[in-house]
Amino acid sequence: MSKYTHIVVPEGEKIQVDATGRVQTPDTPIIGFIEGDGTGPDIWAASKYLFDAAVRHCYGDKRRVAWMEVYAGEKANQHCGSYLPDETFDAIREYAIAIKGPLTTPVGGGFRSLNVSLRQQLDLFACVRPVRHFEGVPSPVKEPEAVDMIIFRENTEDVYAGMELEEGTAEAKKLIDFCTREFGWTIRPDSGVGIKPISISGTKRLVRAALNHAVEHNRKSVTLVHKGNIQKYTEGAFRKWGYELVREEFSDVAVGWDDCQGQPGDKILVKDAIADILLQQILTRPREFEVVATMNLNGDYFSDALAAQVGGIGIAPGANINYETGVAIFEATHGTAPKYANLDKVNPSSLVLSGVMMFEHMGWNEVADAIITALTRTFKQKKVTYDFARLMSGATELKCSEFAKAVAENF
Ligand code: NAP
Repeated sequence: MSKYTHIVVPEGEKIQVDATGRVQTPDTPIIGFIEGDGTGPDIWAASKYLFDAAVRHCYGDKRRVAWMEVYAGEKANQHCGSYLPDETFDAIREYAIAIKGPLTTPVGGGFRSLNVSLRQQLDLFACVRPVRHFEGVPSPVKEPEAVDMIIFRENTEDVYAGMELEEGTAEAKKLIDFCTREFGWTIRPDSGVGIKPISISGTKRLVRAALNHAVEHNRKSVTLVHKGNIQKYTEGAFRKWGYELVREEFSDVAVGWDDCQGQPGDKILVKDAIADILLQQILTRPREFEVVATMNLNGDYFSDALAAQVGGIGIAPGANINYETGVAIFEATHGTAPKYANLDKVNPSSLVLSGVMMFEHMGWNEVADAIITALTRTFKQKKVTYDFARLMSGATELKCSEFAKAVAENF
């Protein structure tokens, strides 16, 4: 008998994760999905259609995904009486991989973002966002094809850890008084206050993931991005610990800028950049950046800024991964766009490309490549959803579901 109350486990096999976090995928893996709120059901239906078609195209009857619905958001509240039921966490832990549409964060009532809760409780410490351009996709910059980066954003620390106290509360007053008394800090009494933790362990596991990615994908550089000139013991320490990790664990394949004066030979060059300067340079010299490792808040800003350079959030994929346990959630990076809910209108590409990341993570690279090739053809044919159609001349505007079918016809 299933240990789950609401989740129905389909016939299939569990994905196994070995002691090093490496994923072993059977021929019929059980994969969790969260449909999402707002436009979530539309983009999930289109994406699932495309994923199944791609797997059939690549492997015939030999392989298939056994999709298992897990609940979060409004559907979970209706179905299970909670926005984020405990069994959702248990199922994702047990079956290792899940994919999700966007979730509404209920306003008021002391709710934390459901997305942040999922990331923190499952300790999905790396938010991974590849950013590249597809020919034909409208972009506000002259050379969008020069952008080919992947961002590793730390997901569990920084000001996102949620340690904030509201102005005027007894708790805020207590912390302000403590800081004044113990450290001689001047903090205005009418302040809200927050804590920004950045740890050695949190930094090193994130930078390790970025370096491993660079090694496995033959990338030439990793850039540590920080505001260490101002925040020395948090952001500056991230930089210091990142370089330390290169010396401790990657000296055979990578070298820090200071240890080679910018001449890495055939090793991966690990360099660093101040966050504000990076925001200029991703526009003026995007070819100089390949893998970026950074903290939570910086990473949030860069991911969206970079996504805009290659076509916007309708096409930006993402994943939240714990490389030690192998547990991962792949997700659309945009929100629920509620005004378009149930109109079969929005662009499913963000979720589709998150699925491409998922298939790569599973080792089903043929499926990932087939989707990328078909998607590229479809954009070149100017068959697009409303968001791109309004920026292109001569485009054929398709509904969300029609777009998925057009991509599948290009396999
Ligand atoms: P949003 O849902 O991302 O929508 C903002 C705008 O982005 C839309 O109006 C639309 O632009 C465009 N857009 C979003 N998804 C698109 C798609 N698939 N295809 C094409 N264009 C798309 O942001 P929001 O309105 O700020 O947030 C709405 C809700 O989503 C909130 O409850 C928020 O908490 C939640 N949210 C969830 C996640 C997540 O689950 N990961 C992330 C962010 C926000 P146009 O109007 O120009 O067409």
